[in-house]
Amino acid sequence: MSDKTIQVSQHLVEWTDEQVSRFWDFESHFPERYFTYFSARRVIRFFRTYLKKAQVILDYGAGTGHLVARLLETIQKSMYDKAKANLVSKTFTAATVEDTKRIVEENGGGFVKTMWCGDEECENAMKERAGVSSRVIPFEQEIIGDVCPVCGRKAEKMVIWGIAY
Ligand SMILES: [Zn+2]
Repeated sequence: MSDKTIQVSQHLVEWTDEQVSRFWDFESHFPERYFTYFSARRVIRFFRTYLKKAQVILDYGAGTGHLVARLLETIQKSMYDKAKANLVSKTFTAATVEDTKRIVEENGGGFVKTMWCGDEECENAMKERAGVSSRVIPFEQEIIGDVCPVCGRKAEKMVIWGIAY
């Protein structure tokens, strides 16, 4: 036997309220050991089917709300994915004012991408003739044409139009 061998004898420990309290106070310094911290994603994945129908979710896990934090992440991601899919499915491309008008009429709204020369007069004409106003000049530009659908001049910007209210 080496000198490092420790003799341990089995003995009963009585957990007093004070000992329990000290134990959890000590454990609270290591949130990474919390069940909900290291397994929240797995728990959520496992209960996904039920979570979709859930109205109220109670976090019975110990700790400072790790499960709730992961749930919110999951919910936000799914809302974001749905919103993005919805946006993509309602975004069209047009080369003329007439097409832009037809697309928003047929879809009861939505968004239409066209090129734009940058002239405010053309923006106003789009509103008058197609019933749409410019919503955004996307940071990530696509080249979907080279002329403005209103004036026919050279256009280098792509604009996303939406119903004008
Ligand atoms: Zn123009």
